Amino acid sequence: FSEIRKIDGAVADAIVAELERQQHNIELIASENIVSKAVMYTMGTPLTNKYAEGYPAKRYYGGCEKVDIVENLAKERAKELFGCDHVNVQPHSGSQANQAVYFAMLEPGDTVMGMNLDHGGHLTHGSPVNMSGKYFHFVPYGVNHEGYIDYEAFRKTALEVKPKMIVAGASAYARTIDFKYMSDVAKEVGAYFMVDIAHIAGLVAAGYHPSPVPYADFVTTTTHKTLRGPRGGMIMCKAEYAQKIDKAIFPGIQGGPLMHIIASKAVCFQEALQPAYKEYIGQVVKNAKAMAAALQKHGVDLVSGGTDNHLMLLDLRSLNITGKDAEKVLDAVAITVNKNTIPDDPQSPFVTSGIRVGTPAVTSRGMKEAEMEEIAEIIAMVLKDYEGTKEEAAKRVRALTDRFPIYED
Ligand code: PLP
Repeated sequence: FSEIRKIDGAVADAIVAELERQQHNIELIASENIVSKAVMYTMGTPLTNKYAEGYPAKRYYGGCEKVDIVENLAKERAKELFGCDHVNVQPHSGSQANQAVYFAMLEPGDTVMGMNLDHGGHLTHGSPVNMSGKYFHFVPYGVNHEGYIDYEAFRKTALEVKPKMIVAGASAYARTIDFKYMSDVAKEVGAYFMVDIAHIAGLVAAGYHPSPVPYADFVTTTTHKTLRGPRGGMIMCKAEYAQKIDKAIFPGIQGGPLMHIIASKAVCFQEALQPAYKEYIGQVVKNAKAMAAALQKHGVDLVSGGTDNHLMLLDLRSLNITGKDAEKVLDAVAITVNKNTIPDDPQSPFVTSGIRVGTPAVTSRGMKEAEMEEIAEIIAMVLKDYEGTKEEAAKRVRALTDRFPIYED
C-alpha cells in the first residue's frame, strides 16, 4: 500500500478500510469469494499496460507474443476444466459474456426464454431494465410453489412461444438444474440452448453439479464467484459457433482484452485443476447443507426447503422481518448478506421477503460445518430479536473471524 499511499492517501485509506471490513465480516453473499494471493497479485502486474485487440497470433498490435502465451494458457486450462470445444476468455464480465452470445446469435425482437428475475434469474436473462429485455422479446419461466423449476410449465411455454434461444441458469436458485431436460426441450422447439453457470461454475468444474457442456450450444460464466478467480467472464461453445462468438466479443462488443485479468483467470483455472480445489468445493456444498439444516432447526424457513448447491434463500415472512431490514440488522453485527425476492414475493424488489446466503467465501476462510451451525444460530437470533442480541452476536462474529483470519500480512 505504501506506493498507493505516496500518490493517493484517500484511496489507500479506503482500500485498507475495505480490507479490514473483509477481515472482520462474515461474508455470506453467494456471488462473492476470497481469492488467493496468486490470483490477486497477477491482476496487479505489468500486463495491464498491454493492448492486444484480437486473439493469440492474430492481433492488431505488435509486441503481443508474451500475452499470447498467457491467453493460450487460460484457454487450454479452461478447456481441460470444463471439457468444452471452444472458449473465449476475454469477456470483461458475466453480463458481457451473455450479451456477446445474444449479439452473435439473435436479431433484435427475437423471442428468447429466460428464468424470471423474481424466481432467481439474472438481469441479463431478459429483465426489462437490461439490454436483453429491451432488445429481445424474453418470455419468462419460473419455479413452482415448492420453489423448484416448473419443468412442465417451462416445456408448455416453449412449445407455445417457439423461442429462438432458451437461457438456463440463475443467480438465486438453490437446487440442481436439469440441463438435459431443458436441452431436450430446446431441441424439440428448434431453439439454441445457452446455459449461464456464473454461480455454479466451481461446482460444475469440480463435479458437484452436472455439467451443461455436453448439452448446451453456449455456456457462459463469471470467473469470480465459486470459481474463485478475478472479476470477469468467459464463454464456452460448440466448435461450430467458435468464430461467431469470438467476433461478437471482439470487435462486436469489446475492444482490447484485459490481459492482466486474463492472466489471473489462467492462475485461477490452474488452482481449480488441483485436488485441493475439488476438496474446497466439496466443503462449500457440505457447509451449505449444514447451514440450511441449522437455520431450519432454529425456525427459519427456506425456499424449496433446502439446498443442493452453495446457496440458499431464506423466506423471512414467518419471522415478520423484510429482506431489507434483515440485511441491515445482520450487517450491523458484521454478517454480510443480500436481500432477495422470493418466488411470488408480496414485497417490492427494494424491500423483499427474503435474503440469499451462500458459503463460498466462509469456506475459503477454512470454516466448516461447526462454524456454519454457529453462524446459523447467530443469524436466527438476530432476525428474531436484534435489540436483545446484537451485542452478543457481534462478539461471537468477531471471535469467529479472528479464528479464521484472511490476508494477514
Ligand atoms: N449471470 C448470473 C447468473 C449472475 O448471477 C451474474 C452476476 O451476479 C451475472 C451473470 C453477471 O455477472 P457480472 O456481474 O460479472 O456482469
